[in-house]
Amino acid sequence: MKYKRILLKLSGEALMGAQQYGIDAERLMQYAKEIKTATETGTQIAVVIGGGNIFRGVQAEAFGLDRVQGDYMGMLATVINSMALQSALEKLDVNTRLLSGVTIQRVCEPYIRRRALRHLEKGRVVIFGAGIGSPYFTTDSAASLRAIEMDADVVLKGTRVDGIYTADPEKDPTATRYPQITFDEVMEKNLNVMDMTAFTLCKENNLPIIVFDMNKTGNLQRLIDGETVGTLVTMNGTQPEADEATQESNLQSTIETTTSTEQA
Ligand code: UDP
Repeated sequence: MKYKRILLKLSGEALMGAQQYGIDAERLMQYAKEIKTATETGTQIAVVIGGGNIFRGVQAEAFGLDRVQGDYMGMLATVINSMALQSALEKLDVNTRLLSGVTIQRVCEPYIRRRALRHLEKGRVVIFGAGIGSPYFTTDSAASLRAIEMDADVVLKGTRVDGIYTADPEKDPTATRYPQITFDEVMEKNLNVMDMTAFTLCKENNLPIIVFDMNKTGNLQRLIDGETVGTLVTMNGTQPEADEATQESNLQSTIETTTSTEQA
């Protein structure tokens, strides 16, 4: 296990599957299974889900609505997605807690940092609903902020693309993927990883980001095991240090390999 605690960001759009709107049951269950498998390694998992499959604040103006009202509608959309994921995880016997940035006391706990940390320590999957609870933000910003507050090792941004490319791979067939990149390069090259607020939060707090394809079965697990999947964004473009337990077990296997080579 490379990461002791991760924050997984899933977009609302990803939950639509092939649909035009709402939640695709199969996709939801697929994500729940991926998360369940990842919990079995002992990694602590927090999740932030977007709401773009239901409503985004920017759509409000097109509807003739107030932007702030639209943002709250978007936040409530994320709570709906979070409730769906919570239920799917519970079907698989995974212990979960849903904490919301907007108080909705009949369906979820209010977000309290210390409580969230306690849930994680107890091995519960913590889902953060309603973003950060304020308009004019996105769930990417919520993912960065909650990851920092939870002292997570990394933000894993699950998308339908398998990393960060030199150009949009869905439009430009010559685009190539970066295995690793620095925060500064992302900014210089104006690459689209997260919105600027979310990205800056990670950069200023030295929180690595990995952009990866969440729809590929086993990818989440591979990442947690320390395999190179997707694109890693760090301060200096290199892998963050493994946690102490992983370093210990790596050291142990190096000693074993050396000893057996010497004996042979
Ligand atoms: N939102 C907000 N504050 C937050 C998080 C979300 O106002 O802290 C609103 C915003 O209108 C956003 C919508 O909720 O458009 C849904 O979230 P987002 O667009 O990030 O979802 P995604 O694109 O990941 O599906």
